[in-house]
Amino acid sequence: MRTIIEGGTIVNEGRTFDGTIIIDDGTIVSLESLENLESQDHLERINAHGCYILPGIIDDHVHFREPGLTEKADIDTESRAAAAGGVTTFFDMPNTKPQTTTLEALEEKFALARQKSHVNYSFFYGATNDNADTFPQLDIHRIPGIKLFMGSSTGNMLVDRREALERIFSSTPLPLMAHCEDTEIINRNMAMAKEEYGDDPSVAHHPEIRSVEACYESTKLAVELARKYQTRLHIAHLTTAKELEYLTGGQSPCEVRLTEGLSPCEVTAEATVSHLYFSDRDYARLGTRIKCNPAIKSERDREALQQALSDGRITVIGTDHAPHLLSQKEGGCAKAASGMPMIQFSLVTMLELVDRGVLSLERLVELMCHNPARLFEVRQRGFIRPGYRADLVLVRPQSGWTVTPDCIQSKCGWSPMEGHTYLWRVERTLCNGHSVYVNGQVDTDYIGEEVAFR
Ligand SMILES: [Zn+2]
Repeated sequence: MRTIIEGGTIVNEGRTFDGTIIIDDGTIVSLESLENLESQDHLERINAHGCYILPGIIDDHVHFREPGLTEKADIDTESRAAAAGGVTTFFDMPNTKPQTTTLEALEEKFALARQKSHVNYSFFYGATNDNADTFPQLDIHRIPGIKLFMGSSTGNMLVDRREALERIFSSTPLPLMAHCEDTEIINRNMAMAKEEYGDDPSVAHHPEIRSVEACYESTKLAVELARKYQTRLHIAHLTTAKELEYLTGGQSPCEVRLTEGLSPCEVTAEATVSHLYFSDRDYARLGTRIKCNPAIKSERDREALQQALSDGRITVIGTDHAPHLLSQKEGGCAKAASGMPMIQFSLVTMLELVDRGVLSLERLVELMCHNPARLFEVRQRGFIRPGYRADLVLVRPQSGWTVTPDCIQSKCGWSPMEGHTYLWRVERTLCNGHSVYVNGQVDTDYIGEEVAFR
């Protein structure tokens, strides 16, 4: 089967140009026109006039909740949301039930995805206080890296013992992706807030409890350990200006030379769409819908994060897509669950920030497609290049539409973006050359591929 995508504007590797993409058996063979295409059998032509063609988004941070938490979400529903959002590859996090902290649990997840994922997939392995001895048995060609919840309370994957941290940082050549928040500081802040505001303080206090200081102290410890053990540290969802200043000011070079390959101790950082888009002023409007950990913080923090997109201190944009049922979002700081669904709207939200002048379209492609591929050494994805798998997304500008509950693919059935009008629209998503999303429909018969690394 040969597919030709004609008439679109390609955005790839810093360039924006009109071109034709030719795909054979799911692989890009050419970015130019081939002669005698008319005479070929089995030719699918896609008209991309008026569209931009980007590499499919690689989301390095999702929680699809399967196995064990499937009342909130599952791989089938959330990979539909991914396809509808232009995301062709996801890396899922280990805080499921059971936790992905044993080789068996990891295999179980791969088996589930082989049955139900409509886009490409892989899974992080989770670090615990006592499983570092299993790291050498991990196949480095099958997983992006190891996820560490460093002093954050997500299930019982909290790693809080110093000697356990030292072992984890010294035990793997894989990227170590760390959630950095200091539990002691959070607990202290929570106790103070409860004293002042009662047992379940309003969500407006969430960024005071999960404070700048809690993030900063934990990030600082992670960077110190990474430098001590030459660990390839990737800090998940950075949220504060103070952490960014630390990463710039100290000896930790966050301006990475990804194209030339990373040295082990270079620290990279992820920002999420939610932290780039919302600020603490949005709690009044959206309440616990935007409660997540680390907390959405001040406008000043958001501005610092947005600036860091263009100067290289932020390397990757992910979503931390973390669905909960709306009933689980009831209450305040103590009771409401933390996390929100975002994967279906991550690309169009970032395109809105492009329209506002926050970053360029080329830089968006760098942060959401090229850099995740480079950082985790993804094979044959993340770029529009001959020989690479045809993971592509066609987006149309000036094509206003409003988010309504009926267009939401995520199982939880709600979005913080409900009622929002976007100007950009995802028109078509190709996964391995197959149109998995087109005209508002996900092809649920299609199954994506396991991603290969290194
Ligand atoms: Zn997360």
